[in-house]
Amino acid sequence: MNKFEYMKEFNHEQLIYFYDETTGLKGITCIHDTTLGPALGGTRLWNYATEEDAVLDALRLGRGMTYKAACAGLNLGGGKTVLIGDPKKVKSEAYFRALGRYVQSLNGRYITAEDVNTATKDMVYLSMETDHVVGLPGKSGNPSPVTAWGAFMGVRAALKEVYGSPSIHGKSFAVQGTGQTGYYLIKYLLGNYSDVNNWKKYDEKVKKIYFTEINEDYIERLKREYPEVEFVKPEDIYSLDVDVFCPCALGAVLNDETIPTIKAKIVSGTANNVLKEARHGDMLKDRGILYSPDYVINAGGLINVYHELKQGGYVFESAMNDVDLIYDRLLEIYSIAKKEGIAVSKAADTFAERRIETMKNVRATYIPR
Ligand code: NAD
Repeated sequence: MNKFEYMKEFNHEQLIYFYDETTGLKGITCIHDTTLGPALGGTRLWNYATEEDAVLDALRLGRGMTYKAACAGLNLGGGKTVLIGDPKKVKSEAYFRALGRYVQSLNGRYITAEDVNTATKDMVYLSMETDHVVGLPGKSGNPSPVTAWGAFMGVRAALKEVYGSPSIHGKSFAVQGTGQTGYYLIKYLLGNYSDVNNWKKYDEKVKKIYFTEINEDYIERLKREYPEVEFVKPEDIYSLDVDVFCPCALGAVLNDETIPTIKAKIVSGTANNVLKEARHGDMLKDRGILYSPDYVINAGGLINVYHELKQGGYVFESAMNDVDLIYDRLLEIYSIAKKEGIAVSKAADTFAERRIETMKNVRATYIPR
């Protein structure tokens, strides 16, 4: 892989390697684009087979964060850190404090948070060495109920686009995955808003919710708490005769095999990278299925944690007001897609790129400070 060629092609700003002999810390930080603000992206710990796999992951995920933050209306750029190592072996206080020192050395150009195989307690170690870490205990809290709330807003936007009203009244849903986000989404669909402090209440009653899961504990939890929600086998979730399919589990679930079987008019859920390939966005469009781009609809957690960086600190109401804007943003993206005759997945990229380009130009004016 020619790294400079890759960076040129996808407009990356910086790629940083770091190594700490004492702790064995070995990693790479990608800073993709800081036009809108400091690059924010989690720290992923993974036993990568090769260094090249790790670099590619950092570059790809960092770029994804730029688009996600830009579409979410945040003053943040995109970045990512990947650590190369066995999560069962390398973790220690010293390991994460060493990482904290590298993050601090970037002087606020990059802000990190937890991600795959890193946890809140690891971020606490980082915070002993750096000011540039978010998602600490006692601040914005568990992001998942907020991510799910953003997806609930996204479902409402899609209903408005397709049926002319955002109401979930009389509508039916198929939810794939009831872990950290799908479970909360089902609760909101059923009118239980306690996990977001009853932020808003809607007096609407869905017709039916189906769900699928592979974790027995989660299946039992839902059956016990909400017996009216019907379990179906994983392979049966796509072809149900429902209004909305909500993928909240895995990536690549929208592909050549599944798309032809989908009966729902809307696909809106929390899961990342749901399109197996970019062309599957066009395939959904051709089938007349409205898709809510994953990184737009699932930005609630990022928006929530971003509010930790606000002057005066995290305020739940301000964060939720911003999360609600996912509704407006999706309507704008659907409208770009319609006007330009492109798939909504492409319209989301266009929306993000335009915001970045516009801000680049706005900031080109010199002002003394
Ligand atoms: P999670 O692991 O808690 O939940 C996913 C659930 O899907 C699990 O319970 C798992 O058993 C189930 N599952 C896996 N394969 C399945 C299958 N074939 N059929 C049915 N169920 C299956 O994860 P999560 O935090 O809810 O995240 C779900 C998706 O949302 C991921 O793609 C994640 O990247 C994305 N996301 C999550 C957040 C967040 O705040 N948690 C934020 C942004 C994006």
